[in-house]
Amino acid sequence: MAAEAKPLAGRHAVVTGGGRGIGAAIAEVLLRQGAAVTITGRDAARLDAAATQLASLGTVQGRVIDVTDATAIEAGFAAAAQALGPIAILVNNAGIAKAAPFARTDLSLWDDILRTDLTGAFLCTKAALPGMLELGWGRVVNVASTAGLTGLAYCSAYCAAKHGLIGLTRALARELAAKPITVNAVCPGYTETDIVETTLDTITAKTGRSRDEALAELVASNPQKRLIQPSEVADTVAWLCLPGSVSITGQSIAIAGGELM
Ligand code: NDP
Repeated sequence: MAAEAKPLAGRHAVVTGGGRGIGAAIAEVLLRQGAAVTITGRDAARLDAAATQLASLGTVQGRVIDVTDATAIEAGFAAAAQALGPIAILVNNAGIAKAAPFARTDLSLWDDILRTDLTGAFLCTKAALPGMLELGWGRVVNVASTAGLTGLAYCSAYCAAKHGLIGLTRALARELAAKPITVNAVCPGYTETDIVETTLDTITAKTGRSRDEALAELVASNPQKRLIQPSEVADTVAWLCLPGSVSITGQSIAIAGGELM
């Protein structure tokens, strides 16, 4: 009975960008499922606060690791594994979103987004995979976006990064299928976090529309006409990590109220 209630007991999960937003919600659900969890990000105070808030649910540690820094990833993942055991679950959630018309998408914006949202996931996966191979068990879940499944105007760099992340997911899923280590992506639509708050600020500043009008524009793409909640994304990630989800690999699951079918 206890094992059923905590199906991820004994597993160490790393959630990048786990100090807030979708990542913090994922950390919470994985802890509830019994995993020991490392949350990473760039802000030590934020990670400490999040870890303190989650501590009553299980074993959780915060570690400062910038996903654009290959050396920090190597050292940080090794230290995390030293503390809580080999990494069995990796959730590549850290990401940034910046919108701009293509003509104003310069190389620096392009590089920022690709380096964080795509290369970051590549480097973190490289650091975590040897431990999973040793365990003979692993789960990689990449937090992509509906922008990884379709084109969005004014988001060429973000769409390119998230499409790339889905390509990485599919290729690695095939490569690791026999291990068995599963690799999947979740693709949220607009989700109620700081990213959407910033998007709403940008729309109101640039168009003069009210916040309610800007919000109505964002949720118009979701047939349920609402923002997705971080906990909904977290529940899908946790389900992909369950032992019984072993046959699900290489998938890109939209969590978007029917926006994409
Ligand atoms: P938030 O802005 O709330 O959180 C982003 C997280 O990413 C923070 O924890 C941040 O940590 C971390 N992060 C950003 N850059 C880096 C970096 N260089 N190194 C380490 N950590 C970094 O956004 P969300 O929770 O909404 O976003 C989480 C993921 O979900 C992203 O990949 C995003 O693209 C994706 N997504 C979000 C959607 C939405 O509408 N909200 C929709 C679809 C996908 P810190 O700043 O503390 O370092």
